[in-house]
Amino acid sequence: MDIILFGPPGAGKGTQAKRLTGALNLPQISTGDMMRAERASGSDLGKQFDDYMSKGLLVPDELVLALFGKRLAQPDAAKGAILDGFPRTVAQAEALDTLLESLGRRIDTVVSMEVSLDEMIERVVLRRTCEGCGQIYHLRYNPPPSQGACGKCGGKLVQRADDTEEVVRKRYEEYLTKTAPILEHYRKKGVVKSVDGLGGLDEVEGRIKASIAPPPPDQT
Ligand code: AMP
Repeated sequence: MDIILFGPPGAGKGTQAKRLTGALNLPQISTGDMMRAERASGSDLGKQFDDYMSKGLLVPDELVLALFGKRLAQPDAAKGAILDGFPRTVAQAEALDTLLESLGRRIDTVVSMEVSLDEMIERVVLRRTCEGCGQIYHLRYNPPPSQGACGKCGGKLVQRADDTEEVVRKRYEEYLTKTAPILEHYRKKGVVKSVDGLGGLDEVEGRIKASIAPPPPDQT
């Protein structure tokens, strides 16, 4: 099963993708996390990613597709994956469809997580991420047990450099112009499910699970 968690920055894609991995027994593939890891390694590729990420701009499709293709070929993604932050352009979506088709797979569900612009900015600005394990906290709604340290691994909690209001507004603009059109692409295939992204973590997780559950068998 291949699922896309779709939505603007701060919709909760990363948080919910991590929660769903256990229940669905599928890996999370986050191109953003992969790019941050590459950047942290200090490689030339990581520096190229950072040129775009720090400005709130999308990384060019060729670079993203090379990164994603390698990840999808890993054995843990052989039966499917939860895609978080990918695809982000219609060209990426088309390349993804072709890649999956070559594996005899297809996108089963695009879960479109809906949140308002104000809510999104508040979430992103108050988001803190663990440098060690990537766990995500929100200072108000999902605070870490101790300030500055991850409750899962004890790693240092940091604010992502692109989680400032100014960069988030740019990211949102990129989302509206380049990413949102993907929904139409998948609506035509009949696989888009809209989910209210507002509410507690368990509540939103429940809505996502309900949206990806197969329809009940026809009992007539
Ligand atoms: P995220 O962690 O998904 O919020 O992504 C953070 C940043 O990484 C984005 O603002 C982009 O600069 C870059 N990025 C992540 N995934 C993609 C993608 N699929 N296409 C282009 N840029 C991406």
